[in-house]
Amino acid sequence: MRPYSRRDFLTALGWGTLAASGVQSVWGAPIHEGSQIVEAGKSISRGGPAILENGAVVQPRREIPVLRETDVLVVGGGTAGVVAALAAARAGVRVTLVERYGCFGGLWTAGLVLIVLSTHVRVGGKHQKMVHGIGDEMLARIAAMRHGAVNYGPDSKQDTTTDPEVTKYVMASMLREAGVDILLNAWVTNAVMDGNVIRGVLFESKSGCLAVKAKQVVDATGDGDVFDAAGAESVPHIHRIGLVHRLGNVPPTLDSKSLNLGSVTPVPGVRWVNMQGPQGDCLDIETLTQCELDGREAIWRRVKEIQESAGGEQVFVLDVASQLGVRASRTLAGMEELRLEDWKQEKQYPDVIGIGGDYEFIPGRGCPIPYGVLVPNSIDNLLAAGRCVAADNTMLNYTRLIAPCMLTGHAAGAAAALAVTSNVAPREVEVPVLQDMLRQQKAYLG
Ligand SMILES: Cc1cc2nc3c(=O)[nH]c(=O)nc-3n(C[C@H](O)[C@H](O)[C@H](O)COP(=O)(O)OP(=O)(O)OC[C@H]3O[C@@H](n4cnc5c(N)ncnc54)[C@H](O)[C@@H]3O)c2cc1C
Repeated sequence: MRPYSRRDFLTALGWGTLAASGVQSVWGAPIHEGSQIVEAGKSISRGGPAILENGAVVQPRREIPVLRETDVLVVGGGTAGVVAALAAARAGVRVTLVERYGCFGGLWTAGLVLIVLSTHVRVGGKHQKMVHGIGDEMLARIAAMRHGAVNYGPDSKQDTTTDPEVTKYVMASMLREAGVDILLNAWVTNAVMDGNVIRGVLFESKSGCLAVKAKQVVDATGDGDVFDAAGAESVPHIHRIGLVHRLGNVPPTLDSKSLNLGSVTPVPGVRWVNMQGPQGDCLDIETLTQCELDGREAIWRRVKEIQESAGGEQVFVLDVASQLGVRASRTLAGMEELRLEDWKQEKQYPDVIGIGGDYEFIPGRGCPIPYGVLVPNSIDNLLAAGRCVAADNTMLNYTRLIAPCMLTGHAAGAAAALAVTSNVAPREVEVPVLQDMLRQQKAYLG
């Protein structure tokens, strides 16, 4: 019999890919054993340094190594991107998901925005679920874990709040089960264009600058980084930028309203605290830096007040979001736009891809979302998903909520897969076929 190798051991643990990638020890091994000197360092795709030419910094022309070739490339592993990747993979195509941070969930997890709004419609005390499909499957899996969620289920009258670490874990598990090829710590910086066709993207990483080639691309970066790089028309936005945090050890007796102790989480004694923050350009590096620094100061000022109030002495800052709370920066100028006026007129969309729950400014009735809000006018093989889809100034405050992001992510992933298998551009995808595919994946289209 063949001897049981280290690779077999890792494979048995479900960590076979680690063995293949050359990772030298399993998690949990003692760290005091020191490093291992390898024969040669991996070459980094930096292409040599930039140079100064007459005082200007110039990057010399160079070839970029292609790390992957895939059918559907999803950029951004937030709510929309993860659901898009799952939808495409379940439709049977090869999917690569590229995420700039080391975890999934984006604002929902790294941003500590924990309450999932607009999954339901509430009329006369009744609570009707609108968001089904992959998004709801994800919520159910999160809720099935200990301290995974509160207020989930048919009897709940409130919106579901989830734990960020459970959510990250469930997302990663679902992606791995679906066979999605994942690249983490990979920040997409540019598009690879061939006329109106996007052939792939460039990303920066510890391995240097690398490329992924793809047949179809889903931009789920939230900020439209990819469609902007590809030259698609977009709308810039100034919006409030907040920094969310969690508090630990909060006694139930403490007055949560006057001290602004935020909202409940699935973990006893832990609350998450939203922050409105100042208006700003979320694509400006100086603004983002200022908001991170000012936001952190504001949090600590407030926590000091809590700790100085009777009963709040033992409250502590559990964590501050590692992703700044960017609400809106850039939205797609799409083939269609979601408009408040249309919702008021009860407009029906033949290309509906999902129905979201109600919200403050659209009460008592669901919100149908048309496919056209994902589709750019000018770029042939690109779709937007999540908070950067096409919507007017009011409705972008709806499309950016977590539940609608699940819906647009689901549709973008399914449409991208369909575009690959039928070898057409997303704008030529047969909408009834797409709608059938979404229904098969348990989406609710009305
Ligand atoms: C302060 C605040 C409070 C909110 N409150 C609520 C609330 O109570 N309930 C609610 O439902 N919604 C709320 N929202 C809105 C909601 O949280 C987000 O709009 C939603 O989670 C966005 O999901 P997304 O997938 O579109 O984008 P994101 O969550 O932003 O995900 C984008 C992902 O792409 C990655 N990425 C970005 N750029 C690149 C790149 N160039 N290369 C590679 N990866 C990239 C990011 O790291 C991230 O993982 C709030 C938002 C904010 C900011």
